[in-house]
Amino acid sequence: MNFNTTNDQDEFISKVDTVCKTLRSFEEACYIEEKLNEKLVPEFSKIGMLGCPISKEYGGLGYDILTYCKSLERIGEEGNSMRTFFSVHTSIGQMLLQGWANQEQKKEFLPATTNGKSIMAFALTEPQAGSDPSAMTSEYEDVGDCYLLTGKKHWIGNGTIANIITTYARDKTTGKISAFIVDMDSSGIRKKEMKNKMGLLTIKNAEINFEGCRIPKQNLLANVGQGLNIAFSALIDGRLSVAAGSIGVMKDCLNETLRHAMSRTQHGSLLAKKQLIQQHISSIVIGMESSKWLTYRAAFARQKLHDYVEQFKLEQEGWQSELNRSNSTYSQLRTDADRLTTIAKFHATNMAFDCATRSLQVFGSFGYQKTSRVAKHFLDSRATMIYEGANEVLELKIASEVLGDSFKAY
Ligand SMILES: Cc1cc2nc3c(=O)[nH]c(=O)nc-3n(C[C@H](O)[C@H](O)[C@H](O)COP(=O)(O)OP(=O)(O)OC[C@H]3O[C@@H](n4cnc5c(N)ncnc54)[C@H](O)[C@@H]3O)c2cc1C
Repeated sequence: MNFNTTNDQDEFISKVDTVCKTLRSFEEACYIEEKLNEKLVPEFSKIGMLGCPISKEYGGLGYDILTYCKSLERIGEEGNSMRTFFSVHTSIGQMLLQGWANQEQKKEFLPATTNGKSIMAFALTEPQAGSDPSAMTSEYEDVGDCYLLTGKKHWIGNGTIANIITTYARDKTTGKISAFIVDMDSSGIRKKEMKNKMGLLTIKNAEINFEGCRIPKQNLLANVGQGLNIAFSALIDGRLSVAAGSIGVMKDCLNETLRHAMSRTQHGSLLAKKQLIQQHISSIVIGMESSKWLTYRAAFARQKLHDYVEQFKLEQEGWQSELNRSNSTYSQLRTDADRLTTIAKFHATNMAFDCATRSLQVFGSFGYQKTSRVAKHFLDSRATMIYEGANEVLELKIASEVLGDSFKAY
C-alpha cells in the first residue's frame, strides 16, 4: 500500500488549501451568524472540487479516492460543517450515482452536479427509522406511467438547497424498499429547514415531506428492491469522508493548541511547559496519526472495490443484478471496504471529539466562546459520532463481522 501522492495530486490538494484559506474568515462569520456559506459552491467549483472523484466523462476531475480523502482532510481543518457539504453532495450523492445509476441517468444528472449548478442530497432517515432504516414507512406506488411517493424524511444535509436527491421508500404492495432519484422541483414536495442545531451551522438540514410526489419510471435506481443495498453501499463512502474530515479537525485542534500553549503564561511559565498540558498535546497527536493511517488504509480498500466494479460494468451486461448475486470477489472487496471504513469512522470521530475537548481545555475560558475555532470543532465533531451510522451501531457492526451474522445485535 502506497499512500504517497504524485505532483499532480499534490497540486490539486494545494488548490484546495488556497480555497480554504480564501474562505476561512467568511466561513467563520457565517458560523457565528448561523448562515449558509453561500461562497462555498462557487469558490470550490472554480477548482473542480465539486467533481473531484467523479469520472471526467461527467465533468469531474476523475481523481482517485485517496486524493479525494486528502482534500477532505484539508477541508476538515476549516470545520466539519464545510466538509459535511462534500460528504453529502459528493460521497453519498454523486458517488452513489456514479456507482449505481445507469448510463442515461448518469448523463442526465451528473454533469450539472460536477460544475456546481445542481446540488445533491441523500434522504434516508425518517423520524421513526434512524439507525434502523429497514423500519422506514415512506411508501411508493407504481401507477403505470410513474411512481407516487409519500413519506417524511428528516435531518437531510443540503436538504434546503439540493436540486437532486436520492431517496428510499417501500413498495405499498410488496414491501420491497427501492431507491429513487428525485428532482426537487417535482410537485408534491415540501421542505423545511431544521433549526436549533448545536453545530454544523454553515450547512443546512431539512425535513422533507413527499405528498404523492410523481417520480418518472426512469428515475428508479438499479432494480426494484435494491434500496437498502444501495443506501448501505453509499454509507461506505459517507463514513470514509467523515473519517477523512476528522483528521483535518484534529490537525486544526493541534495547531490551535500549540499556538495557545506556546504563548500563554501561567504560574511563571508557558502552558506548553506543563506536563499535563503536554499530555493533552500528545493525545491529540496520537489521535490524529492513528486516524490518518486507518483512513488511508480504508481509502485503499475502497479504491480496490471501485476499480473492480468499474471493470465489471464494462464486461457485464445487466451488472446491477449480477453484482448482487453471489459474486465472491465483489462481496469480499465490499466487506473489506465496509469494515475498514467503519473502523476508520468510529475511531476518527471519537478521537476528533476527544481532541476538540482537550484543545478547549487547554484554551480554558478563551476556548469557551463560539468564536474560537476549537469551540466550533467541539460542537461540530459531536454530530459526527451520530450521523453516517451512530457509533454504537458501528461497534456492533464491527463485532458481528468477527462473530458472524447470527450474532448480529442491531
Ligand atoms: C447533523 C446531522 C446530519 C444528518 N444528515 C443526514 C442526511 O444527510 N441524510 C440522512 O438520511 N440522515 C441524516 N442524519 C440522520 C442520521 O443518520 C441519524 O441521526 C442516525 O442514523 C441515528 O438515527 P437516530 O438519530 O434516529 O437515532 P436512533 O437510531 O434512535 O439511535 C439513538 C441512540 O441509540 C443507539 N442505538 C440504536 N440502535 C442501537 C442498537 N441496536 N444497540 C445499541 N445502541 C443502539 C444509537 O447509536 C444512538 O446512540 C443526520 C443526523 C444529524 C444529527
